[in-house]
Amino acid sequence: MKIFRNALHRRHDARLEMYRGRLVPCHETPARLDHVLAELARRPVGSLHDPAPDDAALDAALAAIHAPRYLDFLAGAWDEWVALDPANADLDILPAVWPVRGFRADVLPESFAARIGLFSFDAGSPVMAGTWAAAREGAACARSAALAVSGGERAAFALTRPPGHHAGPDFFGGYCFLNNAALAAQTLRDHGAARVAVLDVDYHHGNGTQTIFYGRDDVLTVSLHGDPRTEYPFFLGHADERGEGAGLGANLNLPLPRGTSVATWFEALEAGLAAVAAHRAEALVVALGVDTFEGDPISGFHLRADDYLRLGERLARAGLPVVLTMEGGYAVAEVGGNVVNVLEGLVASLPRP
Ligand SMILES: [Zn+2]
Repeated sequence: MKIFRNALHRRHDARLEMYRGRLVPCHETPARLDHVLAELARRPVGSLHDPAPDDAALDAALAAIHAPRYLDFLAGAWDEWVALDPANADLDILPAVWPVRGFRADVLPESFAARIGLFSFDAGSPVMAGTWAAAREGAACARSAALAVSGGERAAFALTRPPGHHAGPDFFGGYCFLNNAALAAQTLRDHGAARVAVLDVDYHHGNGTQTIFYGRDDVLTVSLHGDPRTEYPFFLGHADERGEGAGLGANLNLPLPRGTSVATWFEALEAGLAAVAAHRAEALVVALGVDTFEGDPISGFHLRADDYLRLGERLARAGLPVVLTMEGGYAVAEVGGNVVNVLEGLVASLPRP
């Protein structure tokens, strides 16, 4: 398998996030990806590559899933922040005001504080000097992985952070800025796959991906996750969200209570893969979070290291070309072993060409 790694990921290395009423050290750290690279050095399950340096094509691809005014804001946010006050250069940016129900989102405010609220949904996702560069290079990895699969590879992995699946058409949150899984799905569509499925196995609902494709029937979105009645991102991810308009029936949520057993989790995975097969998807994108791990500090499922091997084997048996994007996973020292277990299980079980 080809693995596209984000060599710029360390540029996003934020200090503090707002978590349950306190500013705490960020859970989403550069060490997460470094542990995957270290594990890949021990167990080389694929070849490492840099993404294609095709800026114009990447911009066009991003504009197909994100709003132009959102991309413009994110690209320039740090420079604006520092221009407001040179002392801001020592601070990460956190939003603190949001347009909830009844407020207007159509008028773009002049105030920076208002605009960063308009384009976000939590205060847990700091923006810093290198956020845009890191997120954009990650998007390039996702696009290159999808192009590799469109070109005949059985599997490719976008090894990147910050993650992407919480980022919607015009908002960031949940440590996510650009939606890598959605970008991979769109790229597969644009390069020959008539129908694509996104299967999100992160502990948290893939709200951004769902929202991006909610009105479309060409991209099925499936998410297995902690029940939003108690688990982040709280306000989306219920079972009755099935899509709208042309997309009605092309979204499947499988919410599970915190504490769900591994056996029940794998049953939900079967239900998700059955939906992928029923969609007659020609390619699969897996939003791969390993915060389903029993030792994860912010999640509540109980998968163990061996279960990630089984997950990879089961994904391979779907029989589809597959692009994986790296999402969550905050038991930092175990992220490498768990991610590479998925890749190893997958590669070992892929059909021979
Ligand atoms: Zn997660």
